[in-house]
Amino acid sequence: MNAFTYSRAHDLAGTLKEIGGNEKAMLIAGGTNLIDLMKENVARPSHLVDITRLPLSRIEPLADGGLRLGALSTNSQVAYHPEVERRYPLLAKAILAGASPQLRNMATTGGNLLQRTRCVYFYDLAASCNKREPGSGCAALHGWNKQHAILGTSEQCIATHPSDMCVALAALRATVLVEGPEGQRAIPFSELHRLPGDAPELDTTLLRGEVITAVDLPPEGFAEHHAYLKVRERTSYAFALVSVAAALVLDGNRIQLARLALGGVAHKPWRVERSEALLEGKAPTREAFEAAAADVLRGARGFGHNDFKIELARRAVVRALTQAAPEVARDHDVHR
Ligand code: SF4
Repeated sequence: MNAFTYSRAHDLAGTLKEIGGNEKAMLIAGGTNLIDLMKENVARPSHLVDITRLPLSRIEPLADGGLRLGALSTNSQVAYHPEVERRYPLLAKAILAGASPQLRNMATTGGNLLQRTRCVYFYDLAASCNKREPGSGCAALHGWNKQHAILGTSEQCIATHPSDMCVALAALRATVLVEGPEGQRAIPFSELHRLPGDAPELDTTLLRGEVITAVDLPPEGFAEHHAYLKVRERTSYAFALVSVAAALVLDGNRIQLARLALGGVAHKPWRVERSEALLEGKAPTREAFEAAAADVLRGARGFGHNDFKIELARRAVVRALTQAAPEVARDHDVHR
């Protein structure tokens, strides 16, 4: 591990000043990803600013009926918060599908959003990796790529985003609040993470020196009809091969509102508004679910070991939508 200095932040203004003035400074909160990256020498900050004492851990109602998750609220606090359990069970289930209880007690909302890919080559200093060292190549393209992306890839990088929580937040259309040298701004969740393109070293659209302060959930939580389906190689403590967050608002036997987001398939939680719109106004039938599944996977491409993910994701989308509306789906014989 590289030598580094450490300081504890007491207020946000001081934090912004400290990281703004040092390109090699990094923030640390739960440390559940950063410490691993530092041990492997993938991350080599010269200075760590500990932000765990900043007053950013509250979970509080918003005037518009939504809910604000402070950036330092832990994954456990969010998953077991009565309002999240009651109004946003999709989010609670996604969080509880990830990591382990011990990790969820440490990991924070902001840190979950900013965790880095688990591509094995990213963590292996002997392997070429454009994300770790731009211009060095991508060992995964022709290597062991079973866990890798099938959508939104580039010749530079085929890594996936590892979070479960972020898949639910994408489906819920959350908003990320940030504060930086230029002041505050709100980022729609779908615009926080980026596709690799020709700059895979950049995971997000955050500007230099910006800090996530909160995540706002909109009033609609899809409590009645939702599902988080995670397909993985063992039933706990494993990253998703494919995951699906599906959420519906039903009006009789018509889908009034549909949300669909996939994890484990792209460099960011994968959401296609067009595929959601295909479901809206339709009856929740197997045909409608299959059409949406085919649409959300349009353009999917495998790289050898991960070819199976295309069919797996298609089936997982149909299954998750079916689980989101089990009674209605049964009436329409979706379980065939
Ligand atoms: Fe690096 Fe991305 Fe290639 Fe993995 S997929 S080796 S993270 S460039």
